[in-house]
Amino acid sequence: MTLANGRTYLAIPGPSVAPDRVLNAMHRAAPNIYEGPLHDMVDTLYPDLKAVARTKGDVAIYIGNGHAAWEASLTNVFSRGDKALVLVTGRFGEGWAEAARGLGVDVTMLDFGRQSPVDPARLAEALKADKGHQIRAVMTVHADTATTVLNDIAAIRKAIDDCGHPALLMVDCIASLGCDRFEMDAWGVDVMVAASQKGLMVPPGLAFVWFSEKAMAVHQSAGLVTPYWNWTPRTRGTMFYQKFNGTAPTHHLFGLRESLTMLVHEEGLEAAWARHAVLARAVWAALAAWGDGGPVAANIREVANRSNAVTSVRIGAPDGTRLRRWVEANTGVTLGIGLGMNTDADPNSDGFFRIAHMGHVNAHMVLGVLGSIEAGLTALQIPHGGGALAAAAAVMAEA
Ligand SMILES: *Cc1c(COP(=O)(O)O)cnc(C)c1O
Repeated sequence: MTLANGRTYLAIPGPSVAPDRVLNAMHRAAPNIYEGPLHDMVDTLYPDLKAVARTKGDVAIYIGNGHAAWEASLTNVFSRGDKALVLVTGRFGEGWAEAARGLGVDVTMLDFGRQSPVDPARLAEALKADKGHQIRAVMTVHADTATTVLNDIAAIRKAIDDCGHPALLMVDCIASLGCDRFEMDAWGVDVMVAASQKGLMVPPGLAFVWFSEKAMAVHQSAGLVTPYWNWTPRTRGTMFYQKFNGTAPTHHLFGLRESLTMLVHEEGLEAAWARHAVLARAVWAALAAWGDGGPVAANIREVANRSNAVTSVRIGAPDGTRLRRWVEANTGVTLGIGLGMNTDADPNSDGFFRIAHMGHVNAHMVLGVLGSIEAGLTALQIPHGGGALAAAAAVMAEA
């Protein structure tokens, strides 16, 4: 006998749950890539992608994952030896920094630890020390999927502006886009990267880079530009094939058309953000109840500094891994692994697990995940307080 039989639920922070509508939109005969409906459909994607990012800037679409978006963004603005300042609040900030270093960018990392957001005052200090304005870009992650911290991008922009520093601001929204409020133009972001398989609810395979006019001006003299990632033909070319530098990712694009219809035209971006906010608060209410009488706690203490897309939970090694395995084997729910939280005492981040609440997720799915975790805590005799499901349900009821 197993209670895991039935529809499984992958509650990890990407790939997220793809709506049946998106999968069905992809399930079709291959379209003509040279003319006809595919071309007309692709034209409609750009305004909606800009709406999701809240920008009037440009967006380039790539066949790729988040790492592809990282490389695409970097090669379009840097030259070998240029300086970048990377504000690190978790594994993904480090990852983007390593990608830049691998391309020959002179990277300095400012690390804010694993439980705190970027401190704009420390950024300001670093920029003031750069008297010759050598730093070409400040790079950071909106929601770092490992620590699940949410950074205040407007405050980071303000720190740069207050120093009178001309650096570009580049932001990784791979986890947060469509989940946490993000305002590319209002917050003064020059380059933003995302991928299809998180808040955008499409299987992995599409990467995106949005960029401002200021970034486009820097791009004109960037020495790392390569033919494949180059923004110019992808966004200014007159031939359809230039948009993808070859064969278009046909079926993924039809999936994206459907997901953008759902997100932008049916639910609405503001309503989607509000849904994510309530579901996240329900998760945090459950964590608080469990923690009152046991080791369970959200990794990020301040609620204002938490992402609405995913929550990293601290439980103590090895119980993060034990619980995750029990829940998968016995309930059909797969939780996210602890990532990048390793210490000498816990080299594999076994003291953590993550709950994704990003994308195509609703109240009953979140309650199912929380109930499954509760069953695991009980079965494994991990001490925990009571009333977690009631607390989560109360948040939903009030909303
Ligand atoms: C998922 C993720 C990435 C990496 O994306 P891949 O598709 O795995 O390459 C990068 N940054 C953030 C914030 C992410 O959540």
